[in-house]
Amino acid sequence: MPLAAYAARDDNCRGRRHPEPPPGDRTQHQRDRDRIIHCGAFRRLEYKTQVFVNHEGDMFRTRLTHTLEVAQICRSLARSLGLNEALAEAISLAHDLGHTPFGHAGQDALNACMTPHGGFEHNVQSLRTVDVLEQRYPGFPGINLTFETREGILKHCTRDIAAKLGDVGERFLNGGQPTLEAQLTNLADEIAYNSHDLDDGLRAGMLSFELLCEESASFRDHYDAVRRDFGSLPGRVGQHEIIRRIIKAQIADLRGTSAARLAAAGVGSLQDVRSATGPLIAFSDAMRADNDQLKALLNRRVYQHYRVRRMTSRARRVVTDLFGAFLNDPLLLPPDTLERVEQREAQRGLRGRARAVADYVAGMTDRYALAQHAALFGSVPNP
Ligand code: MG
Repeated sequence: MPLAAYAARDDNCRGRRHPEPPPGDRTQHQRDRDRIIHCGAFRRLEYKTQVFVNHEGDMFRTRLTHTLEVAQICRSLARSLGLNEALAEAISLAHDLGHTPFGHAGQDALNACMTPHGGFEHNVQSLRTVDVLEQRYPGFPGINLTFETREGILKHCTRDIAAKLGDVGERFLNGGQPTLEAQLTNLADEIAYNSHDLDDGLRAGMLSFELLCEESASFRDHYDAVRRDFGSLPGRVGQHEIIRRIIKAQIADLRGTSAARLAAAGVGSLQDVRSATGPLIAFSDAMRADNDQLKALLNRRVYQHYRVRRMTSRARRVVTDLFGAFLNDPLLLPPDTLERVEQREAQRGLRGRARAVADYVAGMTDRYALAQHAALFGSVPNP
C-alpha cells in the first residue's frame, strides 16, 4: 500500500541532532528501528518486569515481549492506514527503553528518590536513553535518531522539562500534535497491555471467565460469541480465542474511527496533522468506555492483587536502598559508572550526581538490581 499523504516520509523528515549522510539502502526510519534493536537498553528489556516478575513463571510478559506486541499491533495499524510502518515500529520498540526495573513500582520509587533533584519519569528517560546514555558511536552521544522517532518516544512531559528539550519539547509548550505514527503507538501500547494483562491475569489465577463476564460487558460479549461459534472450548484455547477477538475488535475500531476522523478533518499532509487541535488517532466513544472499564478491572483485580503488591513493596525497597547507597557513597559504584557520576557532579553538583545515579539504577534489570541489593545489604528473601 502506498503511503498516505499525511504519513511521515523521508522527504518530510526533520533530520537528526547530529547530521549524518542519508542511509543508502534503507529509509531514515528503518535506520532508526535498526539502531534501537542493536542497543543495550533494548536487550535489557528482556529482564525487566512488565507486571509479573520473571520468577513468577516463564510464560508471563516481560518488558521485551510487551514491546514486541506493541510493535506488532502498531505495524498492522500503520500499514492499514497508509502510515510509515518503520517509524511506527521504531517508536514502539523504543517506547519503554527508559523503564526502571520492577515496572511502575520501580519508577514510582525512583521518582520519589529524585524529587529533590528534578524528578524521574520513564518516558523522558526513554528519550534520554537514545539521546545520551547509549554510547555506541565515536562521533556523537546516543544513537542519534530522527526527530520523528524522538518526538514519538516523548509521549508526555511537564512544561519545565519540555523547555529544556529543545525541538522535541516544543509541542508541549506551544500546542501541536506529533505524527500519526506516534499517536498510533500510544494506543497500540494500550491495546497490547490491556489484552496481555488479561491473559497473564487469567494465567496467574487472579482472574476467571466468570469474574470477567460479571465485571466486563465487552468480555462477556466476546465470551458468548466464542461459545456460540465453537460450543465449549478447552479453557486455554477458549482464552486465546477471546483475547484474539478483543485485540481484533480494538484494532478494527481504532482503524475505522481514525480513518473517519482524518477524512472529516480534511487532513491532507503531515503539516495538517501537526497543526490539528487534538489527536486524530482515537477509539470510538464506546470502545474508549469499554477500555476504561477493562483498565479499572485490571487495576482492581491484578495490579492491586496482594501477590503483585508484595513485588511492588519489595521493588520500592530495593530501588530506594540502591539509590540512597550510591548517592551517599559513589565509591561503591563500578569504575565506569563512577566516572560518569563524577563528570555529572563536576558540571551540576549534587543534582548531577543524583541524575547519574538514577541513570544507573534505571538501567538495571530486575535480577541485576536484586544482585546489587544482596551484595550491599544482604539478600532480600522472595515474597
Ligand atoms: Mg508500554
